[in-house]
Amino acid sequence: MTGRRSRPLTDLRGLKTFMDEDNQKETIVMRGVGVSPGVVIGKAYLFDRLDTQVPLYKLSAPSLIAEEIRRFRSALRESEKQLRELTKRLGDLGGGMEPLYIIDVHIMILRDRKFIDRTIQNIQEKSVNAEWAVRMTIDKYREIFDRMEDDYLRGRISDIQYAGQRIIENLSEKDRAVMETGEGFVIIATDLSPASTAQMKIDRVLGFATDMGGKTSHTAIVARSLEIPAVLGLENITRCVQTNDDIIIDGSAGVVIVRPHPEVSKRYEEKKRLYEKARDDLLDHAKLPAVTKDGYRVEIGGNIEFVEEIPSAIAHGADGIGLYRTEFIYINRKQLPDEEDHLANYRSVVGVTGLSWATIRTFDLGGDKFFPGAKPSRELNPQLGLRAIRFCLKEVELFKVQLRAILRASARGKLRIMFPMISSIEEIREAKRIFYEVKNGLLKTGTPVGNDIEIGVMIEVPSAVIIAEELAKEADFFSIGTNDLIQYVLAIDRINERVTYLYEPLHPAVLSLIKQVVDVGHRAGIRVAMCGEMAGDPTYAMILLGLELDELSMNPLAIPRMKKIVRGATLKESKALLKKVMRLHSSSEIRALVEETMRKRFPDEFQING
Ligand code: PEP
Ligand code: MG
Repeated sequence: MTGRRSRPLTDLRGLKTFMDEDNQKETIVMRGVGVSPGVVIGKAYLFDRLDTQVPLYKLSAPSLIAEEIRRFRSALRESEKQLRELTKRLGDLGGGMEPLYIIDVHIMILRDRKFIDRTIQNIQEKSVNAEWAVRMTIDKYREIFDRMEDDYLRGRISDIQYAGQRIIENLSEKDRAVMETGEGFVIIATDLSPASTAQMKIDRVLGFATDMGGKTSHTAIVARSLEIPAVLGLENITRCVQTNDDIIIDGSAGVVIVRPHPEVSKRYEEKKRLYEKARDDLLDHAKLPAVTKDGYRVEIGGNIEFVEEIPSAIAHGADGIGLYRTEFIYINRKQLPDEEDHLANYRSVVGVTGLSWATIRTFDLGGDKFFPGAKPSRELNPQLGLRAIRFCLKEVELFKVQLRAILRASARGKLRIMFPMISSIEEIREAKRIFYEVKNGLLKTGTPVGNDIEIGVMIEVPSAVIIAEELAKEADFFSIGTNDLIQYVLAIDRINERVTYLYEPLHPAVLSLIKQVVDVGHRAGIRVAMCGEMAGDPTYAMILLGLELDELSMNPLAIPRMKKIVRGATLKESKALLKKVMRLHSSSEIRALVEETMRKRFPDEFQING
């Protein structure tokens, strides 16, 4: 779930901290959002090192203080050497004297007694690492300079910052070597853009831990497609870790342990072994159909955000793609994608060997996701704002570009298209009208398009449930987006961590709405799928079977476990459980019953003690 707060363990009173006798640095345990499962035990690599991301750690032994001062002095010498070389090079090139004067000023700062003494004093008195001590000194100077009346003098703080940054970079010089020579490492970063992941030697990356990000951020997606553990949204991990620190990432639990005690590492070695064994065992189920013991078959889709995830969807046993979140084509780009950009993506999804169908969801932009060049008007309630289909119907030309590409790709194989956040009959009719207009335009020019494209309505808004009977007349299938449906029916902003405790898929109101959608859909003779996070959570497997959904679409990594449970259950017992659940009135009673049932029925999957 997005937005969980993380704090270093040292801030969390009552929790135990360990002290590693060998390096005397404190262990820190942090909680974030586990976005890609698995355990990794390795060395950290601090990927970005902007001024604001200088690592901070406490030195808890006097011997370390002396070592830190030595590091600082050595970085000073190195910095001066570099500047002198630079002076020489500039001198050889000829040119004006101005740059040379500036470099001279920087050298003077590096030799300045007050600058040096204050930094050493910070190391000694505050017991902090040299990088942080330099930063403290710069901050102090900034305070003094900020008070200066003269604009020119006030601006000279930039020279001190420049010299300080050079020292910090030299302090981390050895860090860079790790990237080149180390055995693989865990990337620690504020956030990772596609450009920064492209810079990495990706085959040596063992895991990710970042300050920012959530389940659908770029880093999460890259981690899942590479199948490496990742925990995001840690808020301040870049402040707590230094390159080469030992680190454990538990992507399943959303936990990161910095500088673990050897005993803790040992326990995690075991957890890693068990996780990998379970994953391999589960993969045996991946290729089998999701059929209950009494013969009820549910189709399994994979949810993807990038076409790069398709091999993973196939390997984990998806029957098809149940949700392709196409808005990711727009995000992280400098320019709007054109029809050919769209087409290149859709061609990689439709008619792929190993997948029987592909469901393309038209883009869900707006709200808090924008495309390049857009100047979004600030909305007070973006989740209730101009997003998804509302946005498409406003920006019809953008919508048509996407529809044309989807239609062109449809000639390659079985394609389903669905529209997000439909809340009225007018919206689906208008979306379909534009769709057919584009289709007829293509047919007129002789462009081949598929002749069995199914049109779906995403059920994500309570009004759509209430008018489901009418919507069913306009659709070939429904796909329930529980992430939004729960948000709107329970009035809980899905990205506001202050109300995540209220986010409850087993709320009786949620279950009743889902049941209504399935019943109405089936009475109308159309398929009903579910593609929100709820569909991939094994705890709900029997409830989802009892509801008789035709398709469950989920993060590919979740598929093998879901299949294993489906294959171990019967439709009969699932319906009996659902019947009992529907008689209960509170989420807590329902949760207790569902969890107890699952633990009893699948003790290996849901361990008795947790
Ligand atoms: C949903 O809302 O459940 C869904 C699948 O769409 P998204 O998470 O992309 O909003
Ligand atoms: Mg949604």
